[in-house]
Amino acid sequence: ESQLNPNYSFENFLEGDSNRLARSAGLAVAAKPGGTSFNPLLIFGGVGLGKTHLAHAIGVDIKDKYPEKTVLYISAEKFTQQYIDSVKKNNRNDFIHFYQIIDVLIIDDVQFLTGKTGTQDVFFHIFNHLHQNGKQVILTSDKAPVDMQDIEQRLLSRFKWGLSAELQHPDFETRVSIVKNKLYRDGVEMPEDIIDYVAKNIKTNVRELEGAIISLIAQSSFNKKEITLDLARTIVEKFVKNTKREVSIDYIQKVVSDYFQMDIDTLQSKTRKRHIVQARQLAMFFAKKLTKASLASIGSQIGKRDHATVLHACKTVDNLSSTDKQFKKYVEDITKKLSV
Ligand code: ADP
Ligand code: MG
Repeated sequence: ESQLNPNYSFENFLEGDSNRLARSAGLAVAAKPGGTSFNPLLIFGGVGLGKTHLAHAIGVDIKDKYPEKTVLYISAEKFTQQYIDSVKKNNRNDFIHFYQIIDVLIIDDVQFLTGKTGTQDVFFHIFNHLHQNGKQVILTSDKAPVDMQDIEQRLLSRFKWGLSAELQHPDFETRVSIVKNKLYRDGVEMPEDIIDYVAKNIKTNVRELEGAIISLIAQSSFNKKEITLDLARTIVEKFVKNTKREVSIDYIQKVVSDYFQMDIDTLQSKTRKRHIVQARQLAMFFAKKLTKASLASIGSQIGKRDHATVLHACKTVDNLSSTDKQFKKYVEDITKKLSV
């Protein structure tokens, strides 16, 4: 059994600017598994943006076109568990062999392999074997390869061999078409202004968008009420409230520079004065911790630095806060200021 969910098809995966590259690459891979340069195909993006859906869609489509091919979908978490079990039961070789004879291997959420060196090692060997034999590998991750920490370099370099395609936040039009498609499939009608209202206000991700629509439908049918704009407002409000507000990088820079009584220009400047460097490193550290921005994007927003500088800053802050009492206090104080 391939573990594929037939509902997660290309047909049900609505196209928009936010997913066009990833979706087209997925279609290309499905047309010629192992026969394109998109090997591996790595789909990355934040939660609820469609990684799992798209990964299944590729598998479903391949199964459709090439019924004789073995396609396997597995989460990195389950893969890790299987590997650990195989080691315990002394059949690590069977485990490896099982994966080496698959034609299309789809591993979801590879960020889960972070820090798991044994599993990374075995996956490295499986990957090489599949790749050498022209088999297709499809991966998903919540981060771009450059932003994956604690994944072995040799594995990361393999991830970069093929294509990394990002799923971004869908724009308003795409959100509207996703909602309409969902309503259509559920056979539910909803006034246009309500669809617009929900799609306009729920921007976090597709899962929440669908969640809001599902509760809207449920509320109206359980209470035998019409779907009104008022009902939509109450539901949207709940969704927006429950979603943790993401602080912006601008806000973080403001809080950090206020804390050290300097202005943002100073914090961003090229100076190597120790206290300014530390303030800048703290800003980068919090940006990494509290936002979904990539290292590269954080660097460019905090004084036009590159991703390596941000990575170095994060590590320095980690180190200093465990060795330097004063520095630890900075981190605690700023954490408090940022969490209100
Ligand atoms: P992720 O794996 O990135 O967290 P999922 O693939 O689980 O996200 O997607 C969350 C929900 O949103 C699923 O129900 C999925 O079907 C839906 N979804 C995501 N993107 C789209 C899209 N472009 N069109 C239709 N539905 C989508
Ligand atoms: Mg997923």
